[in-house]
Amino acid sequence: MAFDPVKLAEDTEAFCQEVRPAEELAYAERKFNDQVVPLAKKYNLLGMNVHPEYGGRGADAVNYFKALARIGREGTTVRTFFSGHLSIGAYPIQTWGSERLKQKYLPAASRGDKVLAFGLTEPDAGSNPREMTTTYTKKGDGYVLNGVKYLISNGGIAHAVIAFGYPEGEVGTGRISAFVVDTDAKGFEAESFAVNAKMGMPTSNTAMFEMHDVAVPAENLLGTEGDGFRIALGTLVSGRLSVAAGCLGVIEDCLAEAIEYSKMRKQHGKEIARHQLVQDHIAHIEMDRVASESMVLRAAEMKDRSAAEPGDKELLRQADLLAAQAKFFTTNAAWDAADRAVQVFGGRGWSTLYRPGRHLTDVRVCRIYEGTDEILKLKIAASVLGKEWEAFK
Ligand SMILES: Cc1cc2nc3c(=O)[nH]c(=O)nc-3n(C[C@H](O)[C@H](O)[C@H](O)COP(=O)(O)OP(=O)(O)OC[C@H]3O[C@@H](n4cnc5c(N)ncnc54)[C@H](O)[C@@H]3O)c2cc1C
Repeated sequence: MAFDPVKLAEDTEAFCQEVRPAEELAYAERKFNDQVVPLAKKYNLLGMNVHPEYGGRGADAVNYFKALARIGREGTTVRTFFSGHLSIGAYPIQTWGSERLKQKYLPAASRGDKVLAFGLTEPDAGSNPREMTTTYTKKGDGYVLNGVKYLISNGGIAHAVIAFGYPEGEVGTGRISAFVVDTDAKGFEAESFAVNAKMGMPTSNTAMFEMHDVAVPAENLLGTEGDGFRIALGTLVSGRLSVAAGCLGVIEDCLAEAIEYSKMRKQHGKEIARHQLVQDHIAHIEMDRVASESMVLRAAEMKDRSAAEPGDKELLRQADLLAAQAKFFTTNAAWDAADRAVQVFGGRGWSTLYRPGRHLTDVRVCRIYEGTDEILKLKIAASVLGKEWEAFK
């Protein structure tokens, strides 16, 4: 069936309207929002960007990221679930998995029977994944994995995770491989972060997991052995765009909230929207929105062009760079927009009972995961200075 962008937008809107009260209740109770998956299932959003052959809707990057931007308005938590499940979960399986692997995971993921996650980060390997210590050995027909992955979105609710590791004896060589690991495998243990230990996103699931001699069938290798670094970096292009799109949604919501509140709230004898310094905040949020929207759209269009010409290295390079630029810009713009919306709300803004306060604490992580501000700035600087000026290799 041909992809229908209007139907995706309608279903996304219906999902967002239904998820909002559930998210607000979960936030007030500071507990995991267990309604995201069932509602996403109800509106057939769990395979938005998965090819129809594997049970998805087959959305292109532009329409997928429009949907994520709409979902982003409901909060960084809700959008992060989709990033973990689709942008960095299903995407590498669809892009580098064998036909058998795609059939094994993607239809179930699109139906919502399998939640996915992506495990690259380790306690001692964050900005530099080469420093990971997870290892694998070949055994019989498959592999055996050992290691710890840390701060993994959906990690405690996933049925399968993408996990990366070195062949035993080759740690530090950069020659990592990527596997799809079932979380019910013997020796796999996940532990979710306590809600009180988080500064934001209390309604999300973030977890660490340990693999002790976890047996993985040979068919669960992504690409070929040694492809892991390429797969991780390629997946981050998709992941960074999803974060950027979600942050655009955060900005849109902050703008809507600031407009509505400032037109209603009166101080010094008039609506605060009539005070020029309040208008300064609103003008800045609007500029955050306009600039972010064009950067996300441009990066998504390039992602689509690159996907249409998979052998074109220059298109791939541009898609990678535009995604990094969009992610760096929009995450900082969303932080600025949330901060300004909090200021417009005054004392109420400081409370997480109101949307700007929740956006502010939740969106902060977007400047850390999927490439920190610093790593992205170094990448962007190297793109204009030239490869020989790269601050790190
Ligand atoms: C809520 C949440 C969800 C996450 N979800 C996932 C997930 O689903 N999957 C996953 O694999 N990971 C996930 N992460 C992990 C995230 O990607 C890492 O936290 C991030 O990459 C940074 O790594 P780190 O925390 O080890 O920080 P570090 O790498 O230790 O960095 C600490 C600081 O040093 C700076 N720094 C490091 N190296 C350099 C350098 N060369 N030059 C300049 N500055 C540098 C960094 O920018 C940062 O400011 C998640 C994290 C959080 C908080």
